[in-house]
Amino acid sequence: MVDKMLDYKNELPVELIAPDISSYKKSNTGIDYVHTFDSGKHGPHVFISAVVHGNEPCGAIALDWLFKKEEIPKRGKLSLGFMNIEAYLAFDPSNPNRTRWVDEDFNRLWGPGVLDDKERKQTSEYLRAREVKPIIAEVDFLLDIHSMQKPCIPLMMAGMEQKGLDLAKSVGMKIPTIIDSGHKEGMRMRDFGEFSNPSSIKNALLVECGQHWEKSSEPIAIETTIRFIRNTGIMGNEFGLEYLPKSDNDSKIQFLKVGKIITIKTKNFKFEKNWQGFDCLKKGEIIGYDDEEVIEAPFDQTFLIMPSKRLFVGKTAVRLAYPV
Ligand SMILES: [Zn+2]
Repeated sequence: MVDKMLDYKNELPVELIAPDISSYKKSNTGIDYVHTFDSGKHGPHVFISAVVHGNEPCGAIALDWLFKKEEIPKRGKLSLGFMNIEAYLAFDPSNPNRTRWVDEDFNRLWGPGVLDDKERKQTSEYLRAREVKPIIAEVDFLLDIHSMQKPCIPLMMAGMEQKGLDLAKSVGMKIPTIIDSGHKEGMRMRDFGEFSNPSSIKNALLVECGQHWEKSSEPIAIETTIRFIRNTGIMGNEFGLEYLPKSDNDSKIQFLKVGKIITIKTKNFKFEKNWQGFDCLKKGEIIGYDDEEVIEAPFDQTFLIMPSKRLFVGKTAVRLAYPV
């Protein structure tokens, strides 16, 4: 059974090859497809997460690359996890939208109490999220690797707290960084528990590496992973240097804040244009319509963050951000 919400035509080329991850099933954590490399020395626990959405192979490619490097941390622990396994294993390049999830979005289940609610429907994603929750609750730094529906420049999603922004700065990917609270539909893994507590040192980032199947999202996923891990100090100084540019470009990171989330209210929602993401509109320009309601750009410079193709009631249509 395919969720009707995911059964829409793909018009974009599938350039990436989703790696075979069967050899990573057997693990040392008691959770299939989640591995921990422990230095045995004091230090932070760092977690790199891939395929929270089953149709986003760039994260799986980055983890596969990291596994094959076989580098053990010098201090602390490094955990690597493939999240929505059931969806990812069903990935089909001839119909790649369909395997975003099996029953529901894995990345909307992380609000307080959701995964402890035994009355809740036992979906594939709910059960897998419950499996990985104990280790996600334990880690100090989480990088969650994603990609986007439409061709768009890479974006870093830093969450609502200053500490997310600070982490994005020190990781140093020169890509626009978005201060955002996620989706009304439910909380993301990157916002789970202590990651959203401003007084906790635990911290997380979510990177959107580009379009799901675009070749260019692969090097972004790998570079972000390297910079994220290097920033935690768990690896030696040489870690990943062969992959990074010799000299860092000194361009500034652009910061934007999501000021409004457009959540779909009726089945008659439509966009004014085929927005691609990161489109910049002037205040008052029409973004779209939700039945009778006209949705206009609310800020002098309104940036459209990830306009969706899944225009269903209750889903996020687009998030609206302004420069800060
Ligand atoms: Zn995603």
